[in-house]
Amino acid sequence: MASKEVMPIGVFASIGEGLGAGLDRVKQMAVPTVQVPAPVPHLLTEKHARSVRRQFKEAGIEITLVFCGYPGESYATIQAVRDTVGLVPPSTRDERIEHTRKIADFAAALGAPAIGIHAGFISEDWSSADFDELAHVVKGVCDYASAMDLWVHLETGQETADTLLHFLQAIDRANVAVNFDPANMILYGSGEPIEALRKVGKYVRSCHCKDAKWSNRPGQEWGVEVPLGEGDVGIEAFLSTLTELGYKGPLTIEREISGEQQVRDIKKGVDLLQSLKKKLLKGRR
Ligand code: MG
Repeated sequence: MASKEVMPIGVFASIGEGLGAGLDRVKQMAVPTVQVPAPVPHLLTEKHARSVRRQFKEAGIEITLVFCGYPGESYATIQAVRDTVGLVPPSTRDERIEHTRKIADFAAALGAPAIGIHAGFISEDWSSADFDELAHVVKGVCDYASAMDLWVHLETGQETADTLLHFLQAIDRANVAVNFDPANMILYGSGEPIEALRKVGKYVRSCHCKDAKWSNRPGQEWGVEVPLGEGDVGIEAFLSTLTELGYKGPLTIEREISGEQQVRDIKKGVDLLQSLKKKLLKGRR
């Protein structure tokens, strides 16, 4: 990673047509790194990648990961995620593999080190055909990305840490990693986040600093996403566990609302992470 800083703070930045606005917002936050969602398909070009790369470089901001998203995905309910998200749904699988490859090409042209994927619900039945087929698909994505020296980070959330760990072992590729989102574990009701982090820790190369409160019916109804530090994750424990694990990658703040409130919440998140980092990294180098 180009950034020398240990656990540099980051935010999400949009890199669509109105790149200027997205970049201005990041500059306003004064953070050194960003993760970016892949732009709409017609902007997945080398020309656009070069333009984005140049503008972020000039601003001194490092793009640490490009997130894949696919037309037709819905996060409206947990069941909708099951049915529509990622590389799981069979009816859209082939076109999404193709789309993922285009995003990987774009990420490479951008000079980003990784792509991120919400693979979808990994089957908790490790001997099922569904588990095997998805592992095979992700393995293929890793092999494609590997040719361009890209990492493939799987976002946590839908599955338990034990299943994710088994899945990573089944993929068995040197460039597969985890983007650990502690709030997702709570939102989906898939397990206690700090315990999960310890289980998959050696694979974690990026993370989302996001917070949430458990639902009354975990796994059936969404928990509630809240500003960083106000939920059930335990952000200080999260950061201190990352530190214990030797994690040095970016801390990317994710706040899944929009408008001015989002900006205010993210700024408060930046302040919170800065003060926690100061406390945790005291005396370390
Ligand atoms: Mg996330």
